Amino acid sequence: MCGGETKATAAAPSGPPPHVALLSSPGMGHVAPLAELARRLHDAHGFTATVLTYASSDSAAQRAFLASLPPAVGAASLPAVPLGDLPAGAAIETLLSVEAQRSVPALTAVLSGLKSTTNLVAFVADLFGADTLRAARDAGVPGYLFFPSNLLMLSLMLHLPRLDANVAGEFRDLPEPVRLPGCVPVPGADILQPLQDRASDAYRWMVHQGERYRDAAGILVNTFDAVEPGAAAVLRQPEPWRPPVYPIGPLTRQPTDDGGSGAVDATSCIDWLDAQPDRSVLFVSFGSGGALSTAQTGELARGLELSGHRFLWVVRSPTDGGANPGESYYDRSSSKDDPLSFLPPGFVERTKELGRVVPSWAPQTRVLAHRATKAMLTHCGWNSALESMAAGVPMIAWPLYAEQRENAVMLCEETKVALRPKVRDANDMILADDIAEVVKEMMGGEKGEAACVKVMELQEAARSGLEPGGMSGDTLAQVVSKWTAVTC
Ligand code: UDP
Repeated sequence: MCGGETKATAAAPSGPPPHVALLSSPGMGHVAPLAELARRLHDAHGFTATVLTYASSDSAAQRAFLASLPPAVGAASLPAVPLGDLPAGAAIETLLSVEAQRSVPALTAVLSGLKSTTNLVAFVADLFGADTLRAARDAGVPGYLFFPSNLLMLSLMLHLPRLDANVAGEFRDLPEPVRLPGCVPVPGADILQPLQDRASDAYRWMVHQGERYRDAAGILVNTFDAVEPGAAAVLRQPEPWRPPVYPIGPLTRQPTDDGGSGAVDATSCIDWLDAQPDRSVLFVSFGSGGALSTAQTGELARGLELSGHRFLWVVRSPTDGGANPGESYYDRSSSKDDPLSFLPPGFVERTKELGRVVPSWAPQTRVLAHRATKAMLTHCGWNSALESMAAGVPMIAWPLYAEQRENAVMLCEETKVALRPKVRDANDMILADDIAEVVKEMMGGEKGEAACVKVMELQEAARSGLEPGGMSGDTLAQVVSKWTAVTC
C-alpha cells in the first residue's frame, strides 16, 4: 500500500522528508489553524513545512506564535503588495481576496524556490486564497485548499455561483430558509454577512472565491463528522462538479499555547479560575476581532450581574455608529482606549466576588480546559466553537459577523451544543433580562444540562477521530498518501 499513514511510510527512506507550503490569509483565526495543520503533518506524517503569511498581517503576536512551532515548521512572509487603490473602508473580504490575487507572482517565486530546495509535494491555501492555486500550477505541485470553517459554510461557498444565478433579491428577504444538501436549513438573514448586500464588492469577491474553489485538487476542512453528520455524509461523496472534500479536524491550539498573544493577563486569568469552584464559570469572549456597541456592552454587563453566576469576561473597547465589528481584525491589540472604562459605573466593584473582567485578550484554550469553566458565551467564530467542543464546554451563541450567524444556527439547532438568547429589541440589541435568562438556563437549567451532555459526546468524538483509525486522522492520512504517492 502506498505510504502516508505513518512517519516511516510518508518519506522515502533515504530522501528528504515531504515538504508542504501553506499560505494563510491575514488574521490569527486563519494563521493558527493552518499552522496546526502544519504541526500535525509534521507530528503524524513526518513532513517539514513552510507557513507563508502576508507582510500586512505581521505583528509581534503572530511572530511569537510562528516561532513557537516545531523547528521543522518554518515561516516566511510574502512581500507587501499595494492596496492603496482600494476604496477607503473596503470590506475585509475584498482586502483579503485582492491581496491574495496580487501576491501570486511573489508566491510563484517562493514555491519555485522551495521546489528546488525541498521535497515540495503540495501547496495549501486557505479560504481567501483560491486565486493563489495558480502559483501551485506554475510551480508544478498540486494545489489544495484548507477551509478553517465548517461544512455548512463550505457547502454555501461551493453552491454560491448557482445561488447567485438563481436567487432573486437579497438573502435576508427570502421567504424560506436556504437549504444546502445535508445541512441544517439557514434563514436568509443568517447567511454569511458579506452576502447580505448583493451590490457590494465583498459579495462579488465571495462568489469569485466560490467559483475558484473548483480549481482545488481537494479541500481540507477543519471540522469533524459528528458535528454535522448530514453535511459530512453528502460532502464525503465524490462529485464531478467539485473537488473532493476531506474533514480532518478539529485542529485546535493546545491549552499550553496562549496563541502567542503575549497575554499579559494570562496568569491572572488562570490564578482567578484556580480560586473558583469546579464548573462554575461562564467564559465570555468575542474572538480576536469582535466588539459590541457601548449600549450592548452595558446590557451584557447588567445581564451577567443579574444572572448571579460567575463569569470571566474578555472586554474589548466598543465599536459604535455602524463601524465594522471586525475592524480590529488585522491587529487585535489595537484597542485604543481602556476597554474597562466603558463598563457601567460601579460594575467591576459590585461583581468582584463573582466576576473577573480582562481587557482585550485571554488565554482562551487554557481557560476552556480549566476545571472551573462550565460554559462559554461566544461570537461563534469557528476556531472558538471547535476549541469549546474539544474542551467539552457548551456555548451561548452570540454571533456578530462573517459566517458566525450560520454557525450559531448549526450549533443551536443541529449540533445542539449551544443556547441562544432571545432578541426582542428592534435594533437587534440583546437585553439584560434575556442575557440573564440564557445564562441561568445554561449554568443550571435543563437545556444547559442537555447541551453539556451533548458537547461531552462531541469532545470524545473529536478526540477519538484524530487518533490513528479515527475518521479525521484517517482522512488526513488519505490526503498524505496522495501527496506522497510519487515517493513510494
Ligand atoms: N482567542 C484567544 N483569546 C482571546 C480571544 C481569542 O486566545 O481573548 C483565540 C481563540 O482561542 C481562537 C481565535 O483567537 O483560536 C479566534 O478565532 P475564531 O475563529 O474563534 O474567531 P475570529 O477571531 O477569527 O473571529
